[in-house]
Amino acid sequence: MFAQNTELDAGRDVLTQLLNRKFLPVVLTKEVQYARQSASVFSIVSVDIDHFKKVNDQYGHEGGDMVLQQAATVLGNNIRGGDYLFRLGGEEFLLVLVDTSSQGAASVAEKLRAQIEREVFHLPQNQHCSITISAGIATFDGHPDYQRILRQSDEALYRAKAAGRNRVVIA
Ligand code: GH3
Ligand code: MG
Ligand code: MG
Repeated sequence: MFAQNTELDAGRDVLTQLLNRKFLPVVLTKEVQYARQSASVFSIVSVDIDHFKKVNDQYGHEGGDMVLQQAATVLGNNIRGGDYLFRLGGEEFLLVLVDTSSQGAASVAEKLRAQIEREVFHLPQNQHCSITISAGIATFDGHPDYQRILRQSDEALYRAKAAGRNRVVIA
């Protein structure tokens, strides 16, 4: 799918090298089709860094950018090879976990949440900081419209924020 180099560049976020929003329809259309054919499920996890504005306010935009890069690395190191990791923009990420139930996705998301919480984030001038993330999970339910699962994971993320952040909520 990402065989052509030009396509690869166009589909990647410059700061983090993660997939960008442009590839989301391609990936979700393919996963919906696959899940329907194989009677399997996939899950998506919407991730947003908590109070990220404070990181920028305290350490500047350059510091914020470093945190985003390191967060992207942590997320990428804790998922499987066949999964997809997007930066949707700002401090918002999306994981597509193939062949993964909502319980499976919950354990991946909880592992990520805990890993981010204990990670030391490096900043300019030998400074560091900590961050937390909130996550919302939704699982394919047979419906052909992928906008639906996106909406569900977004709503779950919103509930995770409203419930106090640094937590995982299943739709
Ligand atoms: P919440 O816990 O509710 O998510 O709070 P928040 O502060 O993380 O959310 P909010 O949407 O208020 O602020 C997001 C901040 O992310 C504001 C913006 O300056 C910053 N931001 C967005 N994109 C970038 C980027 O590419 N680099 C840096 N350094 N900051 C970014
Ligand atoms: Mg945020
Ligand atoms: Mg946000």
